[in-house]
Amino acid sequence: MSETGSIAQKFVDKGYEIKSFGESVDVTFLNTCTVTDGADSTCRNHIRKAQKASPEGKVVVAGCYAQMEAEKIKAMQGVDLILGTHEKHKVFDFLDSEEMNQVHIDKSNEFWGAATTEADSHTRAFLKIQDGCNYVCSFCIIPFARGRSRTISRENAIAEARNLVSKGFKEIVLTGVNIGEYESTSGERLVDLVQGILEVEGLKRLRLSSVEPNTITKELLEVLKNSDKYQDHFHIPLQSGSDRVLSSMRRKYDTYQYRGVIALVKEYFPDASIGADIIVGYPGETEDEFLETYKLLQELPITHFHVFPYSKRKNTTAARAESHIQPEVKKARVKQLIALGEQKLAAFTKIQESRQAEVLFEREKEGYFYGHTSNYLKVRVKNQGTNLKNQIMRVNLNHAQGTTLAGEVVDL
Ligand code: SF4
Repeated sequence: MSETGSIAQKFVDKGYEIKSFGESVDVTFLNTCTVTDGADSTCRNHIRKAQKASPEGKVVVAGCYAQMEAEKIKAMQGVDLILGTHEKHKVFDFLDSEEMNQVHIDKSNEFWGAATTEADSHTRAFLKIQDGCNYVCSFCIIPFARGRSRTISRENAIAEARNLVSKGFKEIVLTGVNIGEYESTSGERLVDLVQGILEVEGLKRLRLSSVEPNTITKELLEVLKNSDKYQDHFHIPLQSGSDRVLSSMRRKYDTYQYRGVIALVKEYFPDASIGADIIVGYPGETEDEFLETYKLLQELPITHFHVFPYSKRKNTTAARAESHIQPEVKKARVKQLIALGEQKLAAFTKIQESRQAEVLFEREKEGYFYGHTSNYLKVRVKNQGTNLKNQIMRVNLNHAQGTTLAGEVVDL
């Protein structure tokens, strides 16, 4: 999402207007993914729809799927430009040149390192500090699609953060494919980079995107805890609650270690909300192993579930396994976990009722302003004539409506 936002911002800077997909446009930019199943047919559908909506418009296909399957995409009718994961950020170098209708894929490991921003809300900015991955999780295509781990220097990251703050962003999210690899890749300590960014004058809020559980340290939590800018929401991938499955996935932790990390986070940040990625229906996952995942998630203070049915990715070890799970079994398991996740998030939201919280408001819709608390809960307040967008306000969280807190601004 952050990269799509960054590219959208580049188009805006060039004078383009961003339109909804399906409207008539001069350029359709498809930022593709290979992590989910069906990328091929999704890509075909989108190209067809883009052509139908804008017969004269150009179609650019970029990103991971383009990187992996450039030849296949080239064979599809109506594609003007194919850009790999690095080249997509240089779209304007190719868009108006003679080189249209060409494939631009560079497999080198150069870090493109630009700060990325969310073009539509202008409250929260994404700053990429790391890309690629040196791990070899059995199900994952990212190391093939995005290459080995590489990083931005601490100095450049801080300069980018200052630049974002000067543009009016109040909140920065540090992103990367595996940001816990920052230190082993760059030789610089992640805690020093985080500390440097926390010290950027004018920055109000900092978040970290997904962090692998084995890379969360006491030292990092200490640095985050010592700043009132760090927002207490963590995203810590779990993938499975079965030790056998975790080991088969080549994850670098077991459930005992994962429990320990969650307990540690809660020790430092008792009100933190925690998100986790979970893969359901990994090859060979038995009903009992799935239930182990279900029970672990039921028990742990995980509030935001990101549930994915296992999907076969070409060239990965897991894709070659023999015991693939039937789609209907995966579907049923996904459904159970999503239901559990909804219950847990609603229960966590309910606990916040009658509290006060600082909320950064991001958008206005149909008479309400919407924003997030520090622990990433959605809040809405009635529009009373004052523009709250990009403002941090103290809010009475009056009552929970599902997973949204309805409140009112204190002292408006
Ligand atoms: S750590 Fe994440 S990105 Fe790296 S191989 Fe594993 S799942 Fe893929």
